Amino acid sequence: MTEIEQMTDLAIGVVGAGGRMGRALIAAVLATGSVRLAAASEREGHPSLGQDAASLVGEAPINIPVTADAGRVFEASSVVLDFTAPAATALHARLAAETGTCLVVGTTGLDAGQQKAIKAASEKVAIVQAPNFSVGVNLAMALVERAAASLDESFDIEIVEMHHRHKVDAPSGTALGLGRAAARGRGVDLDAMADRGRDGLAGPRRRGAIGFAALRGGDVVGDHRVIFAADGERLEIGHIAGGRELFSRGAVRAALWASGREPGLYSMQDVLGFSRSEA
Ligand code: NAD
Repeated sequence: MTEIEQMTDLAIGVVGAGGRMGRALIAAVLATGSVRLAAASEREGHPSLGQDAASLVGEAPINIPVTADAGRVFEASSVVLDFTAPAATALHARLAAETGTCLVVGTTGLDAGQQKAIKAASEKVAIVQAPNFSVGVNLAMALVERAAASLDESFDIEIVEMHHRHKVDAPSGTALGLGRAAARGRGVDLDAMADRGRDGLAGPRRRGAIGFAALRGGDVVGDHRVIFAADGERLEIGHIAGGRELFSRGAVRAALWASGREPGLYSMQDVLGFSRSEA
Protein backbone atom coordinates (compact mmCIF):
# COMPACT_ATOMS: atom_id res chain seq x y z
CA MET A 1 0.00 0.00 0.00
CA THR A 2 1.39 3.43 -0.92
CA GLU A 3 1.51 6.29 1.55
CA ILE A 4 -1.23 8.15 -0.34
CA GLU A 5 -3.50 5.07 -0.30
CA GLN A 6 -2.82 4.74 3.41
CA MET A 7 -3.83 8.38 3.94
CA THR A 8 -7.11 7.96 2.08
CA ASP A 9 -8.06 4.72 3.83
CA LEU A 10 -10.98 4.99 6.25
CA ALA A 11 -9.63 5.21 9.81
CA ILE A 12 -11.44 2.68 11.98
CA GLY A 13 -11.23 2.36 15.77
CA VAL A 14 -12.12 -0.74 17.77
CA VAL A 15 -13.26 -0.49 21.39
CA GLY A 16 -13.32 -3.68 23.48
CA ALA A 17 -10.33 -4.86 21.44
CA GLY A 18 -9.54 -7.82 23.70
CA GLY A 19 -13.02 -9.36 23.56
CA ARG A 20 -14.20 -12.22 21.35
CA MET A 21 -15.78 -9.79 18.86
CA GLY A 22 -13.10 -7.12 19.39
CA ARG A 23 -10.44 -9.51 18.11
CA ALA A 24 -12.63 -10.60 15.19
CA LEU A 25 -13.18 -6.91 14.33
CA ILE A 26 -9.45 -6.14 14.37
CA ALA A 27 -8.82 -9.13 12.10
CA ALA A 28 -11.56 -7.98 9.70
CA VAL A 29 -10.23 -4.40 9.57
CA LEU A 30 -6.70 -5.66 8.88
CA ALA A 31 -8.01 -7.98 6.15
CA THR A 32 -10.14 -5.36 4.36
CA GLY A 33 -8.80 -3.01 1.71
CA SER A 34 -9.71 0.72 1.85
CA VAL A 35 -9.85 0.74 5.66
CA ARG A 36 -7.11 0.89 8.28
CA LEU A 37 -6.97 0.34 12.02
CA ALA A 38 -6.48 3.75 13.69
CA ALA A 39 -6.67 2.86 17.39
CA ALA A 40 -7.99 0.27 19.82
CA SER A 41 -9.14 0.36 23.45
CA GLU A 42 -10.07 -1.88 26.34
CA ARG A 43 -11.43 -1.33 29.84
CA GLU A 44 -9.05 -0.49 32.72
CA GLY A 45 -7.29 -3.58 34.04
CA HIS A 46 -7.80 -5.74 30.94
CA PRO A 47 -4.81 -7.99 30.17
CA SER A 48 -4.63 -6.82 26.54
CA LEU A 49 -3.82 -3.19 27.56
CA GLY A 50 -0.49 -2.08 26.11
CA GLN A 51 -0.31 -5.01 23.69
CA ASP A 52 -0.11 -4.30 19.97
CA ALA A 53 -3.61 -4.53 18.44
CA ALA A 54 -2.47 -6.60 15.45
CA SER A 55 -0.41 -8.94 17.63
CA LEU A 56 -3.62 -9.68 19.57
CA VAL A 57 -4.94 -11.47 16.47
CA GLY A 58 -1.66 -13.12 15.51
CA GLU A 59 -0.64 -10.53 12.87
CA ALA A 60 2.64 -8.60 12.57
CA PRO A 61 2.72 -5.59 14.93
CA ILE A 62 1.49 -2.23 13.55
CA ASN A 63 2.57 -0.04 16.45
CA ILE A 64 -0.95 0.51 17.77
CA PRO A 65 -0.99 -0.40 21.46
CA VAL A 66 -4.36 -1.10 23.08
CA THR A 67 -5.20 1.90 25.29
CA ALA A 68 -7.62 2.44 28.19
CA ASP A 69 -8.33 5.94 26.84
CA ALA A 70 -11.47 5.54 24.71
CA GLY A 71 -11.46 9.29 23.96
CA ARG A 72 -8.20 8.85 22.06
CA VAL A 73 -9.75 6.11 19.93
CA PHE A 74 -12.61 8.41 18.94
CA GLU A 75 -10.29 11.30 18.16
CA ALA A 76 -8.11 9.11 15.93
CA SER A 77 -10.97 7.44 14.01
CA SER A 78 -13.62 8.32 11.44
CA VAL A 79 -15.74 5.35 12.51
CA VAL A 80 -15.58 3.31 15.72
CA LEU A 81 -16.76 -0.31 16.02
CA ASP A 82 -18.30 -1.06 19.42
CA PHE A 83 -19.13 -4.63 20.48
CA THR A 84 -18.55 -4.27 24.22
CA ALA A 85 -21.06 -4.04 27.08
CA PRO A 86 -24.19 -1.88 27.50
CA ALA A 87 -22.78 0.67 30.00
CA ALA A 88 -19.60 1.08 27.93
CA THR A 89 -21.60 1.53 24.74
CA ALA A 90 -23.69 4.34 26.26
CA LEU A 91 -20.44 6.09 27.18
CA HIS A 92 -18.97 5.51 23.73
CA ALA A 93 -22.11 6.98 22.12
CA ARG A 94 -21.49 10.22 24.03
CA LEU A 95 -17.84 10.27 22.90
CA ALA A 96 -19.00 9.70 19.30
CA ALA A 97 -21.29 12.74 19.49
CA GLU A 98 -18.61 14.90 21.15
CA THR A 99 -15.93 14.05 18.59
CA GLY A 100 -18.18 13.80 15.50
CA THR A 101 -17.17 10.18 14.95
CA CYS A 102 -19.53 7.67 13.31
CA LEU A 103 -20.34 4.60 15.41
CA VAL A 104 -21.22 1.00 14.60
CA VAL A 105 -22.92 -0.64 17.59
CA GLY A 106 -23.20 -4.40 17.95
CA THR A 107 -23.53 -4.55 21.74
CA THR A 108 -26.79 -6.17 22.85
CA GLY A 109 -28.79 -6.10 26.07
CA LEU A 110 -29.03 -2.27 26.34
CA ASP A 111 -31.67 -0.91 28.73
CA ALA A 112 -33.99 1.98 27.85
CA GLY A 113 -31.61 4.65 29.24
CA GLN A 114 -28.62 3.27 27.34
CA GLN A 115 -30.69 3.09 24.15
CA LYS A 116 -31.68 6.73 24.74
CA ALA A 117 -27.99 7.68 24.85
CA ILE A 118 -27.53 6.10 21.40
CA LYS A 119 -30.59 7.86 20.02
CA ALA A 120 -29.36 11.21 21.39
CA ALA A 121 -25.89 10.73 19.87
CA SER A 122 -27.43 9.81 16.51
CA GLU A 123 -28.72 13.38 16.25
CA LYS A 124 -25.08 14.47 15.89
CA VAL A 125 -23.48 11.56 13.98
CA ALA A 126 -24.41 8.54 11.85
CA ILE A 127 -24.82 5.42 13.99
CA VAL A 128 -25.49 1.94 12.64
CA GLN A 129 -26.92 -0.32 15.33
CA ALA A 130 -27.89 -3.94 14.76
CA PRO A 131 -28.37 -6.97 16.98
CA ASN A 132 -26.72 -8.97 14.22
CA PHE A 133 -24.42 -7.88 11.39
CA SER A 134 -24.66 -11.01 9.25
CA VAL A 135 -26.25 -10.82 5.81
CA GLY A 136 -28.14 -14.08 6.41
CA VAL A 137 -29.80 -13.00 9.66
CA ASN A 138 -30.85 -9.68 8.20
CA LEU A 139 -32.45 -11.47 5.28
CA ALA A 140 -34.10 -13.85 7.78
CA MET A 141 -35.56 -10.78 9.54
CA ALA A 142 -37.06 -9.56 6.27
CA LEU A 143 -38.47 -13.06 5.55
CA VAL A 144 -39.92 -13.35 9.08
CA GLU A 145 -41.66 -9.99 8.71
CA ARG A 146 -43.11 -11.12 5.40
CA ALA A 147 -44.22 -14.53 6.78
CA ALA A 148 -45.82 -12.94 9.85
CA ALA A 149 -47.73 -10.53 7.62
CA SER A 150 -49.06 -13.45 5.56
CA LEU A 151 -49.92 -15.90 8.35
CA ASP A 152 -52.70 -15.10 10.83
CA GLU A 153 -52.75 -15.89 14.55
CA SER A 154 -53.65 -19.55 13.91
CA PHE A 155 -49.88 -19.78 13.39
CA ASP A 156 -48.14 -19.57 16.77
CA ILE A 157 -44.76 -17.82 16.59
CA GLU A 158 -41.91 -19.22 18.72
CA ILE A 159 -38.27 -18.07 18.57
CA VAL A 160 -35.54 -20.41 19.77
CA GLU A 161 -31.90 -19.36 20.09
CA MET A 162 -28.72 -21.02 21.32
CA HIS A 163 -25.40 -19.34 22.23
CA HIS A 164 -22.10 -20.17 23.94
CA ARG A 165 -21.94 -20.50 27.72
CA HIS A 166 -20.37 -17.04 28.25
CA LYS A 167 -23.25 -14.99 26.83
CA VAL A 168 -24.75 -12.75 29.52
CA ASP A 169 -28.05 -11.47 28.05
CA ALA A 170 -31.15 -13.48 27.14
CA PRO A 171 -32.99 -13.73 24.86
CA SER A 172 -30.27 -12.72 22.43
CA GLY A 173 -30.49 -9.33 20.74
CA THR A 174 -30.94 -11.17 17.45
CA ALA A 175 -33.86 -13.21 18.82
CA LEU A 176 -35.49 -9.95 19.95
CA GLY A 177 -34.77 -8.44 16.52
CA LEU A 178 -36.49 -11.42 14.88
CA GLY A 179 -39.36 -10.95 17.35
CA ARG A 180 -39.66 -7.27 16.42
CA ALA A 181 -39.71 -8.27 12.73
CA ALA A 182 -42.54 -10.76 13.42
CA ALA A 183 -44.45 -8.16 15.45
CA ARG A 184 -44.07 -5.60 12.65
CA GLY A 185 -45.40 -8.12 10.14
CA ARG A 186 -48.43 -8.77 12.37
CA GLY A 187 -48.90 -5.08 13.14
CA VAL A 188 -48.59 -5.64 16.92
CA ASP A 189 -46.30 -4.35 19.68
CA LEU A 190 -43.65 -6.90 20.68
CA ASP A 191 -43.61 -5.75 24.32
CA ALA A 192 -47.33 -6.51 24.59
CA MET A 193 -47.10 -9.88 22.84
CA ALA A 194 -43.74 -11.31 24.00
CA ASP A 195 -43.70 -14.41 26.19
CA ARG A 196 -40.11 -14.54 27.47
CA GLY A 197 -39.77 -17.90 29.18
CA ARG A 198 -42.25 -20.38 30.65
CA ASP A 199 -41.80 -22.28 33.88
CA GLY A 200 -44.16 -24.27 36.12
CA LEU A 201 -47.91 -24.06 35.59
CA ALA A 202 -47.63 -21.48 32.82
CA GLY A 203 -51.11 -22.27 31.46
CA PRO A 204 -52.12 -22.66 27.82
CA ARG A 205 -50.48 -20.56 25.16
CA ARG A 206 -51.87 -17.03 24.72
CA ARG A 207 -53.27 -16.56 21.21
CA GLY A 208 -51.00 -14.25 19.20
CA ALA A 209 -48.11 -14.45 21.69
CA ILE A 210 -44.55 -14.38 20.35
CA GLY A 211 -42.60 -16.86 22.48
CA PHE A 212 -38.85 -16.94 23.22
CA ALA A 213 -36.61 -19.75 24.46
CA ALA A 214 -32.87 -19.28 25.15
CA LEU A 215 -30.41 -22.20 25.30
CA ARG A 216 -26.82 -21.73 26.51
CA GLY A 217 -23.87 -24.09 26.12
CA GLY A 218 -20.48 -24.90 24.67
CA ASP A 219 -18.99 -22.58 22.06
CA VAL A 220 -22.09 -22.05 19.90
CA VAL A 221 -21.61 -18.74 18.04
CA GLY A 222 -25.34 -18.19 17.40
CA ASP A 223 -28.24 -20.35 16.24
CA HIS A 224 -31.69 -18.84 15.65
CA ARG A 225 -34.94 -20.42 14.56
CA VAL A 226 -38.34 -18.78 14.10
CA ILE A 227 -41.16 -21.33 14.09
CA PHE A 228 -44.65 -20.61 12.76
CA ALA A 229 -46.71 -23.53 14.14
CA ALA A 230 -50.31 -24.17 13.10
CA ASP A 231 -52.51 -27.26 13.35
CA GLY A 232 -51.01 -29.79 10.94
CA GLU A 233 -48.08 -27.73 9.61
CA ARG A 234 -45.00 -25.79 10.66
CA LEU A 235 -42.91 -23.23 8.82
CA GLU A 236 -39.38 -22.60 10.10
CA ILE A 237 -36.93 -19.84 9.19
CA GLY A 238 -33.51 -20.46 10.71
CA HIS A 239 -29.92 -19.26 10.67
CA ILE A 240 -26.70 -20.80 11.95
CA ALA A 241 -23.58 -18.68 12.45
CA GLY A 242 -20.45 -20.73 11.85
CA GLY A 243 -17.95 -18.11 13.09
CA ARG A 244 -17.62 -14.51 14.26
CA GLU A 245 -16.13 -13.36 10.93
CA LEU A 246 -19.57 -12.89 9.39
CA PHE A 247 -20.43 -10.31 12.09
CA SER A 248 -17.08 -8.52 11.87
CA ARG A 249 -17.16 -8.39 8.05
CA GLY A 250 -20.68 -6.95 8.27
CA ALA A 251 -19.55 -4.36 10.83
CA VAL A 252 -16.72 -3.18 8.55
CA ARG A 253 -19.20 -2.98 5.68
CA ALA A 254 -21.48 -0.89 7.93
CA ALA A 255 -18.52 1.40 8.80
CA LEU A 256 -17.81 2.06 5.12
CA TRP A 257 -21.51 2.76 4.53
CA ALA A 258 -21.82 5.08 7.56
CA SER A 259 -18.75 7.17 6.80
CA GLY A 260 -19.77 10.62 5.59
CA ARG A 261 -23.48 9.88 5.99
CA GLU A 262 -26.01 12.29 7.52
CA PRO A 263 -26.53 11.95 11.29
CA GLY A 264 -29.18 9.36 12.15
CA LEU A 265 -29.79 5.95 13.65
CA TYR A 266 -29.52 3.31 10.94
CA SER A 267 -29.91 -0.49 10.89
CA MET A 268 -27.99 -3.21 9.07
CA GLN A 269 -31.08 -3.59 6.90
CA ASP A 270 -30.47 0.00 5.75
CA VAL A 271 -26.83 -0.86 5.01
CA LEU A 272 -27.80 -3.94 3.01
CA GLY A 273 -30.67 -2.14 1.31
CA PHE A 274 -33.26 -4.85 1.77
CA SER A 275 -35.52 -3.52 4.41
CA ARG A 276 -38.54 -1.31 4.66
CA SER A 277 -37.98 -0.57 8.36
CA GLU A 278 -35.49 -0.88 11.21
CA ALA A 279 -34.38 -4.30 12.55
P1 NAD B 1 -16.68 -10.29 25.24
O1 NAD B 1 -17.02 -10.27 26.70
O2 NAD B 1 -15.77 -11.34 24.73
O3 NAD B 1 -16.06 -8.87 24.80
C1 NAD B 1 -16.49 -7.63 25.29
C2 NAD B 1 -15.22 -6.81 25.53
O4 NAD B 1 -15.59 -5.45 25.82
C3 NAD B 1 -14.40 -7.34 26.74
O5 NAD B 1 -13.07 -7.58 26.34
C4 NAD B 1 -14.49 -6.20 27.75
O6 NAD B 1 -13.35 -6.09 28.56
C5 NAD B 1 -14.67 -5.00 26.81
N1 NAD B 1 -15.17 -3.80 27.50
C6 NAD B 1 -16.08 -3.73 28.49
N2 NAD B 1 -16.20 -2.46 28.91
C7 NAD B 1 -15.34 -1.71 28.15
C8 NAD B 1 -15.00 -0.33 28.12
N3 NAD B 1 -15.57 0.54 28.94
N4 NAD B 1 -14.08 0.08 27.20
C9 NAD B 1 -13.50 -0.78 26.36
N5 NAD B 1 -13.76 -2.13 26.38
C10 NAD B 1 -14.68 -2.57 27.26
O7 NAD B 1 -18.09 -10.34 24.48
P2 NAD B 1 -18.35 -10.65 22.94
O8 NAD B 1 -18.78 -12.06 22.77
O9 NAD B 1 -17.24 -10.10 22.13
O10 NAD B 1 -19.66 -9.77 22.72
C11 NAD B 1 -19.67 -8.37 22.95
C12 NAD B 1 -21.06 -7.81 22.65
O11 NAD B 1 -21.34 -7.95 21.25
C13 NAD B 1 -22.21 -8.54 23.38
O12 NAD B 1 -23.19 -7.60 23.75
C14 NAD B 1 -22.74 -9.49 22.32
O13 NAD B 1 -24.07 -9.87 22.52
C15 NAD B 1 -22.58 -8.63 21.09
N6 NAD B 1 -22.52 -9.34 19.80
C16 NAD B 1 -23.17 -8.76 18.76
C17 NAD B 1 -23.11 -9.31 17.50
C18 NAD B 1 -23.79 -8.60 16.36
O14 NAD B 1 -23.67 -9.04 15.20
N7 NAD B 1 -24.49 -7.48 16.63
C19 NAD B 1 -22.38 -10.49 17.29
C20 NAD B 1 -21.71 -11.07 18.37
C21 NAD B 1 -21.77 -10.47 19.61
